[in-house]
Amino acid sequence: VQGNKSSFEMVREPHLLLIPYPAQGHVPPLLKLASKIAEHGIKVTFVNTEFNAAKIMATMPEKAEKGGLIRSFEGADQGRLTNLMNVSPSLVLLLIFVSDGLWNSPTKWESRELHLFLMAPPTLAVSFHVKKIIDAGIIDNDGYAMPMTDEWISISEETHPWKRNEFNWSCPEEPMIQKIFLEITCAAAETVRISNWVLSNSIYELDSPNCDLVPKVLPIGPLLASNHSGNSAGSLIPEDSSCLRWLDKQAVGSVIYVALGSTTTLNQQQFEELALGLESSGQPFLWVVRSNLVNESLTRFPNGFKEKLAGRGKIVEWAAQEKVLAHSSVACFLSHCGWNSTTEGLSMGVPFLCWPYFADQYQNRRFICEVWKIGLDLTPDENGIVTRHEIQRKVRKLISDDGIKSNSLKIKEMARKSLVEGGSSFKNFERFISQVKSS
Ligand code: UDP
Repeated sequence: VQGNKSSFEMVREPHLLLIPYPAQGHVPPLLKLASKIAEHGIKVTFVNTEFNAAKIMATMPEKAEKGGLIRSFEGADQGRLTNLMNVSPSLVLLLIFVSDGLWNSPTKWESRELHLFLMAPPTLAVSFHVKKIIDAGIIDNDGYAMPMTDEWISISEETHPWKRNEFNWSCPEEPMIQKIFLEITCAAAETVRISNWVLSNSIYELDSPNCDLVPKVLPIGPLLASNHSGNSAGSLIPEDSSCLRWLDKQAVGSVIYVALGSTTTLNQQQFEELALGLESSGQPFLWVVRSNLVNESLTRFPNGFKEKLAGRGKIVEWAAQEKVLAHSSVACFLSHCGWNSTTEGLSMGVPFLCWPYFADQYQNRRFICEVWKIGLDLTPDENGIVTRHEIQRKVRKLISDDGIKSNSLKIKEMARKSLVEGGSSFKNFERFISQVKSS
């Protein structure tokens, strides 16, 4: 930041610079945070790659452009969210660098740092214990689980224990990725240390023991698009809204919603098993099949699959997930347990069928199934395949499980209460805003 000192002294306006990691799981949640902060009258600049900015503009319907976000992007009237080009650093007294925990400040600007962590509290808490876990011989320096008889590991007496192959860096058969994730995990602890504020897209009551292990953390979640009848905040992938009309025609509490996030891939054999499992479940289903969901070839559905369904299955490339989960026709969510999907599903009170793929998804699954008891696990067979029979069996079991349904509604209510006046996330956010304003 350059500028003349006297103008710094005259203007006491905080200005937040939000820089997301440029991926689908990161840009939309940071946009939600940007809007939430801007609603409190604080100036926010959202930095996007040109590539992603163009995608967001392209996915927003006409109605949304007139609404607020895009207008704000253009720096119009309220001057809340402005384009980076509009930043006038000489007028900024307090520049607060905000990221999602995967970046450290790339600037030499004199700034304060805020990090929003888009991962569950245990995932963040464990980053403070990596050395202890290596020293205890539980993993090697590259994160690989060492052979041992007792497979449960506790990082504190109060927190839920870990399975040694379910740490954030677990990525079976991909040692390079495992090593990178271990490094990211260790870096998270350092990021927390240098941050002035640490926000988490979580709810304190969901996991208070792990929240208590992370210094400075303020859980402010769930971060949701504020209006379910409106547009989601800036998807990088165009949403197919025809699935909402299709949901309107289904019976209440009948549909299996299947979505494995933005990066999960399946091999062709697994893809076909999933298709046949959904078919044999007898339930209507809405299935997000991204063009790159199958990792080795063009996606091939089993012979005659689409013809046989006769309207019972709806397949889209990308759905408006929050709106789908809020729809009364949805019975359950077959999910890879990414943290965004987890917070969205639990906020809507939808029971989960869990199918984690890598990283923090294993631990999220454990909390869903064993701590909050709002879902069931899909267990692969001895060849690592989740079979059609397993899918059919677990769908039936989940749909008839009243205990899980009732727990899901309790968690939904907890999430709702956390966001309204007096709730923990509400209070944490107010606290953060007032600290920023008085900085
Ligand atoms: N999502 C969506 N439409 C889809 C599938 C996913 O909008 O059809 C969104 C979902 O709402 C979530 C994000 O994509 O916010 C996925 O993030 P998550 O952390 O669950 O998984 P990741 O993609 O990072 O693995």
